Amino acid sequence: MAPDMTTLKGKPFSRAEIEGLLRRTLFYTPSFEIYNGVAGFYDYGPPGCALNANIIDLWRKHFVQEDNMLEVDCPMITPHEILQTSGHVDRFCDWMVKDPKSGEILRADHLVEQVLEARLKGDKEARGQATVQVDDPKKKKKKTHGAAQAVKLDDAMVQEIEEVLAKIDNYSGPELGELMEKYDIRNPATGNKTTAPVEFNLMFQIPNIGPSSSLRGYLRPETAQGQFLNFAKLLEYNNGRMPFASASIGKSFRNEISPRAGLLRVREFLMCEIEHFVDPEGGKKHARFHEVADIQLNLLNRDVQLSGKTDITRMSVGEAVEKKIVDNETLGYFLARIQLFLHEIGCNPDKIRFRQHMASEMAHYAADCWDAELQTSYGWIECVGCADRAAYDLTVHMKKTGQPLQVKERLEEPRTVEFWAAETAKKSFGPRFRKDASAVQAAVDALTDDLKEKLSLELKDAGKITLNVPGVNDGKVELTSDLITIERRTRTDNVRTYTPNVVEPSFGMGRILYALCEHVYWSREGDESRAVLSFPPKIAPISVALYPLSSHADFKPLIARLSTSLRKQRVHFAVDDSSASIGKRYSRRDQLGTPFHITVDFESVKNMTFTLRERDTMKQVRAGEKEIVEAVVNMVNGDETWEEVQGRLPTFETQEVDE
Ligand code: AMP
Repeated sequence: MAPDMTTLKGKPFSRAEIEGLLRRTLFYTPSFEIYNGVAGFYDYGPPGCALNANIIDLWRKHFVQEDNMLEVDCPMITPHEILQTSGHVDRFCDWMVKDPKSGEILRADHLVEQVLEARLKGDKEARGQATVQVDDPKKKKKKTHGAAQAVKLDDAMVQEIEEVLAKIDNYSGPELGELMEKYDIRNPATGNKTTAPVEFNLMFQIPNIGPSSSLRGYLRPETAQGQFLNFAKLLEYNNGRMPFASASIGKSFRNEISPRAGLLRVREFLMCEIEHFVDPEGGKKHARFHEVADIQLNLLNRDVQLSGKTDITRMSVGEAVEKKIVDNETLGYFLARIQLFLHEIGCNPDKIRFRQHMASEMAHYAADCWDAELQTSYGWIECVGCADRAAYDLTVHMKKTGQPLQVKERLEEPRTVEFWAAETAKKSFGPRFRKDASAVQAAVDALTDDLKEKLSLELKDAGKITLNVPGVNDGKVELTSDLITIERRTRTDNVRTYTPNVVEPSFGMGRILYALCEHVYWSREGDESRAVLSFPPKIAPISVALYPLSSHADFKPLIARLSTSLRKQRVHFAVDDSSASIGKRYSRRDQLGTPFHITVDFESVKNMTFTLRERDTMKQVRAGEKEIVEAVVNMVNGDETWEEVQGRLPTFETQEVDE
């Protein structure tokens, strides 16, 4: 549910203002705009590109370098067969509904959520618990069927709706359809009833790869598949050592039903994904878990959501794993590392939570899944998914290709293993099934140990078993005990073969970037028109701005000199030598989040000293070129804080001239 957002300082938060600012200053801007644009596509301008590049740089250092991950870069175009095998062709879908009169297409879960949230908001307003938006009485009121109308609901209904909303991600399409009937949910724009939810596949299809081929493909919906397909090569590159992780940074594509909320739901976005391959035996421990065990996380677990609540439990990741709230150490390690990353880029720690997936939200094979959600004016938004995908991906690709996507581990001590063996009588099997023999044999080979155990009892009792064999004899084949034996056997293994499990943290960089901008946005007290974006120096789009006090010719060589020094240190700087007052120029830079400002004035011409000003405190120090540049470099690299710089360089007091 959308929180009541107010900024830390200055005036109340306004989404319209921050979005206006981010678009005006070209952090991002709608793509193809002079051709009227297409929903769900955005261009990043200079500050957006720089911010994005800095966040990615930090991501690489924080994850790839830190844990010696093996980075790969794979094609965005992916052949049909691969995504068919992975399950995306059949299952990568959202539920949509159509307004039959207006033709509008809506995402079913979003529609239910939007309408029910509006009803709760209307109820709060009727009870006088919410700030009512004062409508302009001169404006003619347009009928908006989904907008909050101050209507009081009875207490039981409020509770019921709150419970539905807490579980909104858990409903299947038919269940959403039932909710729409039950609560008479209609298209808010028209008041019309919609059709029942139907599935819509989110992948962009490519008709053919190459001019003459019939090889179909898709734009990838995630970067993960390329990593799975390279598993065997990466394992070899890693000298056969487990566990290890691969990582990939690249664009992914999803044909979203109704792109909305700026960068939060788009059709093309940058993903940074990690696939950590781990031995499933031994509880998926992580060698570095002790380093993060004490980190406190805000957890919203599955049981709380299923009880219709959204209460957060704050606990250390160590305790969460010990109590089995988080399934295993490897998953817990990544949750903690994700939080550290979000802190480092400047997200507000109070606006980060980890929400566990409920059963039907999670893929059937997944062992556990948590989303790192960031609180924004749009509500809590999933920005990083972190799933334990068990052995699903490697298993399906191995089955399809016959390639051994497994680990062979030499055992220190040979191991005696008990297993169920199902053997067919070769002599009678062929003549009995003729052309279907290989299909029946494949069905026998595919039996799991559990099934073999069950079937062995049936065979003993009834003298026959029935197997599912697609395409043969209506799908059912009977095998009598002269054709098959199923028995318990033992063997001695010197090598253990297993399919690794995968823990997958998956980051959507656009969502993180936007949520971060909301988290660091504020306005100066007493001067509310001055918006500030307080990015940490490490990731700010531009680290330092240089200002000649005026257009006086004497300042030019000094600006050139400082520029050369900063260039040598590879500090990202900008010169603002416009004729605006210095205060105006500072203010413009605040809106871009530039953390440091160096000003060249008449004093500088005389004695080669410069002022260094910090964005948030607006305090200044004054020193020579070397000290100033060194201080900036240190602060950008995170080696020194502004407080430390203030402690060692002389303070400089001036009245900020604003106009
Ligand atoms: P998923 O594979 O659906 O768990 O998505 C992984 C991450 O990709 C999410 O946590 C989001 O940050 C991001 N993401 C997914 N869909 C979109 C979208 N339509 N627009 C922007 N980011 C997205």
